[in-house]
Amino acid sequence: MGFENCSMCGKLFDRTKSNLCPACYEIESENIKKITDYFQIFERMKTKSFSIKDLSAVTGVKIQEIERLYRTNKLRGYTGFIDLDCKLCGNNFKPTMFSGVFCKPCTQKVEKVIKELKESDRVFEKQIVEEKTKEVLKTKEKEESPHQSGMHVKDDSKKRFGFKKN
Ligand SMILES: [Zn+2]
Ligand SMILES: [Zn+2]
Repeated sequence: MGFENCSMCGKLFDRTKSNLCPACYEIESENIKKITDYFQIFERMKTKSFSIKDLSAVTGVKIQEIERLYRTNKLRGYTGFIDLDCKLCGNNFKPTMFSGVFCKPCTQKVEKVIKELKESDRVFEKQIVEEKTKEVLKTKEKEESPHQSGMHVKDDSKKRFGFKKN
């Protein structure tokens, strides 16, 4: 529970089970129904697959919305019917339940880059950790020696009220 911005329209709403506000959730459900209804018709017609563009043309659901539904796994179980255009090389490919928006060769390329990035990230993080540690140690040193200067105001008031400083 708690308020959150709808990931579609940005409106603030009381989050329950979806990351969409009730109005957008309704629209999304309708779109999913339109698409999956078509999948079933195509299944009966033994159509092997069709592109998101075709799907958009027959259902009236925007290409971007179909892609979003696909990416967020809302079309689970039907992915085998869709032909995707690889976002990297543009080649048409058949996704599996687990594939994303890239064809297999591109996925491998992307994974390699991500792996390299992660490795360099780790080095970067380590450097930050080391630097932060040094910083903390430095400020500790500072805090420990001129202890009184930080208490200046309080000390003055103590003096004013006649408190004794130990
Ligand atoms: Zn919304
Ligand atoms: Zn590709």
